[in-house]
Amino acid sequence: MHCPDEQTLTSFADGELAPGEADDVGRHVARCPACAEFLQEQRQLDALGRMALTLIPVTPLSSTVGSEAWNSRDLKSRPH
Ligand SMILES: [Zn+2]
Repeated sequence: MHCPDEQTLTSFADGELAPGEADDVGRHVARCPACAEFLQEQRQLDALGRMALTLIPVTPLSSTVGSEAWNSRDLKSRPH
């Protein structure tokens, strides 16, 4: 069996494949280091994406100036 395409692997990582297909891909990945690595990267990207999504509401654009002021205040008050 040759490697599934990236779309299939991505769907597999997201749990979006039909059970039979996911079974085939899972068996392939267990034997194929290249696909296992691709899946691991997908999971890391996924985790990073989720982290970015949770960070965005915390730092809205309107508060960028405020957070810069906070940073410089922090630098000044830090003992040298
Ligand atoms: Zn493969």
